[in-house]
Amino acid sequence: MREIKSLINGAPVSAPDAHAIAIVNPRDESVSGTLYEADAAEVDRAVAAARRAFDEGPWPRMPVPERQALLRAAGARLAEHGDELATLECDDAGLPMHEIRSRHVPRMQQNFDYVASLIGFDTGETLEQIPNYLTLVSHEPAGVAALIAPWNAPLALASMKLTSALCLGNTCVLKPSEYTPSSLYRVVEILHEAGLPDGVVNLVNGRGHVTGQALTAHPGVDRIAFTGGTETGSAIMRAAADNLTPVMLELGGKSANIVFESADLDAALDGALLGIYSNNGQQCLAGSRILVQRAILDDFVERFAERSTAIRVGDPRDPATEIGPLCYREHYERVLGFADVAKQEGARLVCGGERAPGFDQGYYMAPTAFVSETNDSRIAREEIFGPFATIIPFDGIDDAIAIANDSDFGLVAYAWTQDLNTALRVRNEIRAGTIWINSPLMRDLHAPFGGYKHSGVGRTGGFEGVHFFAETKTTSIATGDLAMRKVGDL
Ligand code: NAP
Repeated sequence: MREIKSLINGAPVSAPDAHAIAIVNPRDESVSGTLYEADAAEVDRAVAAARRAFDEGPWPRMPVPERQALLRAAGARLAEHGDELATLECDDAGLPMHEIRSRHVPRMQQNFDYVASLIGFDTGETLEQIPNYLTLVSHEPAGVAALIAPWNAPLALASMKLTSALCLGNTCVLKPSEYTPSSLYRVVEILHEAGLPDGVVNLVNGRGHVTGQALTAHPGVDRIAFTGGTETGSAIMRAAADNLTPVMLELGGKSANIVFESADLDAALDGALLGIYSNNGQQCLAGSRILVQRAILDDFVERFAERSTAIRVGDPRDPATEIGPLCYREHYERVLGFADVAKQEGARLVCGGERAPGFDQGYYMAPTAFVSETNDSRIAREEIFGPFATIIPFDGIDDAIAIANDSDFGLVAYAWTQDLNTALRVRNEIRAGTIWINSPLMRDLHAPFGGYKHSGVGRTGGFEGVHFFAETKTTSIATGDLAMRKVGDL
């Protein structure tokens, strides 16, 4: 049985009377360990450790080549432990083991390698427009970062936050989701084994409204980077407001995946299935509203149903499994509950809409799709965050763009068409942070990623993501004798 505590200055810590939470494996609902929740006092200790490492420790002062080498070594060491980390994540999150191993673990290492390279090019600016002045614009680490991660892809998402914060010399306190603490606990241990100085990465575990709230309201925190739901995002912004702490929020989505009649329909079908069902359907960038041009609707829906019902739902450790169990009971029941909502709203069942057959235990859901004639239904407007597609017919491009934009969210959009003008109109007119044309989800680490509207505040990726964790300093140096006004010189 695993014991998950806080890791402060690299050492496990928990109060004798810490609230204990069972870690449940969604595969069979067995208990695999216990999480000891960090209360406000423990969070305070973690922030103090990060502060000390920032104010006095070697990390922010380390020459860039040394920091680059340490980041690369840390990424490589994490990758060496890929099987171990993937097993822990599979046990907590229910994600198919082969997806974690083939996508999330390599992504984690790429995050470390990428920021290590990036900081080699963080050169600042030299300004000489004003005569007799040389002005330097440079970036300094902001201080202590609070990093809050969700449960849907802990290794891939938390490593992005960690690397973006660490590369410039910040220190941090990481809080994983209470449902998926195990892989990140091991990550922080491995970072210390790889030589990261004590206090640079501290870990606290516990529920959002206890540990998360204490961390985001802490006056010793200089930056908050959060990935999670939109409601939690606004609660965090409110908590941060009292201390004027800058926040970066990566929030939910209800993204349109538009299939035009001008599409390569085979590719569009493959892309639509991947867009909604990969990562067990639990991903912010899911193409969860599949907009299909009416002329091809019947054919598309028939083929979508055929492929969805053939998807192998099962034990996430089995290499043949394409969809594993959903992460935890309340979430599974909520996603399943949307099948009832859909029926009450008069949507047409395409496939699924029920527990996956053949399982007595575990949170297995059959791949599900409904056709909703309207974009005003709850299944078209709310983020469901599971293997649940809402197919919406449209008539022409104006209609498609209007439906795509008629959402509180604006994270990503997908469009499938062989017509260049259609592709360009989608690219120009859809209000979302990332647009994929004739492509399934693809994340380019050089490019900023984030949402319009309720899908987020700020961007991860590239310098934009890294500079959130920086203060920008301007230094002006007089380069010649200045004709200064002589105040008080009688
Ligand atoms: P969540 O319930 O909002 O939780 C996210 C994290 O915040 C968890 O660690 C949670 O802790 C913590 N938390 C909850 N309440 C808090 C509070 N008041 N103060 C501070 N922290 C708090 O989201 P989730 O269900 O884990 O994740 C799914 C959501 O994440 C979806 O909406 C998805 O779209 C979004 N997401 C967005 C992106 C993106 O890049 N835009 C990427 C992935 C996921 P506990 O879990 O322990 O309560």
